[in-house]
Amino acid sequence: MSKESYFEVLSRASSFLAKQKKEVKALQFLLLERLGWSMTDWLIHLKEPIPKAVKEQLEADLQLLLADHPPQYILGYCDFYGNRLTVTKDTLIPRPETEELVELCLKNNDLKARKAADIGTGSGAIAVALKKNRPYWQILATDISQGALLVAQDNALKLGTEIDFRLGDLTEPLEHETFDLILSNPPYISLNEWEEMDASVQKFEPKRALFAGHNGLAFYQKLAVELPQYLRTSGQIYLEIGHHQGRLVQELFQANFPEKKVEILKDINGNERMIFLHD
Ligand code: SAM
Ligand code: GLN
Repeated sequence: MSKESYFEVLSRASSFLAKQKKEVKALQFLLLERLGWSMTDWLIHLKEPIPKAVKEQLEADLQLLLADHPPQYILGYCDFYGNRLTVTKDTLIPRPETEELVELCLKNNDLKARKAADIGTGSGAIAVALKKNRPYWQILATDISQGALLVAQDNALKLGTEIDFRLGDLTEPLEHETFDLILSNPPYISLNEWEEMDASVQKFEPKRALFAGHNGLAFYQKLAVELPQYLRTSGQIYLEIGHHQGRLVQELFQANFPEKKVEILKDINGNERMIFLHD
């Protein structure tokens, strides 16, 4: 009897996922990651017999996907701005939208010495991406979660970046320092949005990383009031925002930084996603 091929096993498992109304692509993504294969490798090998150990791994991954585990937590890593970061239940899975925030900041600050702060660093995604691309910058990264900070420190070390990590509530760990650049992707989901979120987010991502009071605006309200004393002359602020929060966050920051321009920028999907504050 001939053994089943990679393709046959994946197809069967995928149709099972589809019947349970789960994201089907995640299983192929996991299979290719486990094998270290590109899409081209897949096309070359898909008709070959699947080894027993690979099939067993695929079946174990299928069970986890059926229970809504995010693929990045199953693997234990996530790629962000070209860096492979460890992610755990203590850290948000960094999103592609946040790569756009990093891109904007790097583009605006080429070949310049900068002191930057990443507030609510999670896995360290933003801080590590900045330091990798601008090794001459001095970077401070904070989080209120000890668990997240340990993961971020580990990521920074593994990727050979030196970042000053500090535990604490929002601006408190900045002490009396001032910065050329302040970046933050704070929690911004309002509690009313809970119902609309994917089951994998609801069940597994840290709530402290996602939710904010006052209709999702609580962290922006505090940051708008507190950040003026930490921003150097000609400093810039980069914030990720929810797609319906642009105008409100813009108003909050404009009121507290009357001298600055406060722009709302869209992400690649055309949704308002960033606030950029500058001279
Ligand atoms: N910067 C990471 C990223 O973009 O992937 C994580 C962003 S996640 C949306 C928000 C982060 O803020 C979480 O890591 C959470 O632990 C942290 N956080 C929540 N409340 C905080 C607070 N009061 N002070 C500092 N960090 C906080
Ligand atoms: N963009 C994330 C989501 O939609 C939320 C990130 C955040 O709250 N800062 O799940």
